[in-house]
Amino acid sequence: MTDIVIAIDGPAGTGKSSVSRGLARELGARYLDTGAMYRMVTLAMLRAGIDPEDAAAVGASVWKVQMRSDGDRYFLAEEDVSAEIRAEEVTQAVSAVSSVPAVRARLVGLQRQMAEGRGSVVVEGRDIGTVVLPDAPVKIFLTASAETRARRRNDQNVASGLADDYEGVLADVRRRDHLDSNRAVSPLRAAEDAVIVDTSEMTEAEVIAHLMDLVKQRSGAVR
Ligand code: C5P
Repeated sequence: MTDIVIAIDGPAGTGKSSVSRGLARELGARYLDTGAMYRMVTLAMLRAGIDPEDAAAVGASVWKVQMRSDGDRYFLAEEDVSAEIRAEEVTQAVSAVSSVPAVRARLVGLQRQMAEGRGSVVVEGRDIGTVVLPDAPVKIFLTASAETRARRRNDQNVASGLADDYEGVLADVRRRDHLDSNRAVSPLRAAEDAVIVDTSEMTEAEVIAHLMDLVKQRSGAVR
């Protein structure tokens, strides 16, 4: 198959990560989770005792963070932090850290390098189609209602042993949407040439099948 770059953007709780991973698997493509990179920087700041709201301190320290990924696992220096970057503390602080221009400058540079490698790649984030890879031949923007996204996130929390708190999760979804859509640098929005897919009434398998069709239309014969 021809190598192809697929940009997938959208807010939290649209099923973006599972769908991006599933699509990469079907295509035999690499998968790049850019949210995990913002989470790694956020964890590094918290560990260094830097206030995530202190943009000057965050901006000055971001260049020192040693991070890498082998595709599935995420490392700060040599330590595997794949579980820790999903902790609530990191989730609470990540929007502030990711609004710092120096953080975006460093991570966007790294993401472009990583997307350039061999073969097809699915790159997932918030600003992939608009900023990181504006020339990607396939751009998808996933959406779903805030209520649907909160319900999905709450179900995942309950399944992993956390408290059942739909209202709390809904408030957090709205808070993060607001911060991510209104920040000055790279606000969350669909690229003009993105295909918008509302996943509210679709299963994960249906979304993946739909995206496979879109990729096939854009790239000719896949497989
Ligand atoms: O996708 P995930 O929820 O792990 O992303 C965590 C946070 O990282 C987002 O809420 C957003 O603030 C930030 N992010 C971003 N740009 C990206 C990916 C994630 O600002 N490309």
